[in-house]
Amino acid sequence: MTEPTQRKLIIAIDGPAGAGKSTIASRLARKLGYVNLESGAMYRALALRAIEWDVSFDDEEALLKLAQDSSIVLDRTIGGNRVLLCGKDVSARIRERDVTEGASRVSVHPKVREWMVARQREMGIGGGVVMEGRDIGTKVFPDADLKIFLDADPVIREQRRLDQQRVKGVSAEAMAAELRERDRRDRTRAASPLVAAEDAIVLDSTHMSEDEVLDRIEELVEEKSLSRR
Ligand code: C5P
Repeated sequence: MTEPTQRKLIIAIDGPAGAGKSTIASRLARKLGYVNLESGAMYRALALRAIEWDVSFDDEEALLKLAQDSSIVLDRTIGGNRVLLCGKDVSARIRERDVTEGASRVSVHPKVREWMVARQREMGIGGGVVMEGRDIGTKVFPDADLKIFLDADPVIREQRRLDQQRVKGVSAEAMAAELRERDRRDRTRAASPLVAAEDAIVLDSTHMSEDEVLDRIEELVEEKSLSRR
């Protein structure tokens, strides 16, 4: 008898900044041969467009229009994260400080979120994806096969962020304060605030290495795959 073809799963990884989502999602996708979709990159691309077109981060209607008129493409490469904004590779630019702040601000608007969520669903619907963000398990794919909420102590998250990304001329304190403010905004906004889905598995990575987190998630994926056959 032939083995039934293994269905490709939708895996949601949510959590606050600095918990290690991006690295884990990218490594996991590569291991599974899945596509890694970084939903935050779409909010970042919209923030960059707003900067370029001088649209206020507070103007919901104008931001929605800008999103509708822009082409924001997450390159569907295995484990990759290339972001194209209106055909231009902006993968590096969207990691800069002004865009990071902007992404956090444009993402509070319900109409912007609705637009983003619809695009993200289209991208992930076929399965075989590891999508990471803040609302994947709660809003984008409430029926995801596996939901991970990756968390870590705030001090550790701040330190990890600093290790990853030191910005010249910006103090460690200022960077930590910015991360805390983005966190606060994500957790307290009215539209899809950052919370773990009820059926998410919460992993606290404070005392775990990247490899340990990955191993644990792989075990969970294996369990899910077996139970879904
Ligand atoms: O994950 P990343 O830091 O790239 O996300 C940038 C910003 O986009 C976050 O600060 C968050 O406010 C927002 N975001 C969101 N929902 C998502 C992904 C990101 O609100 N699913």
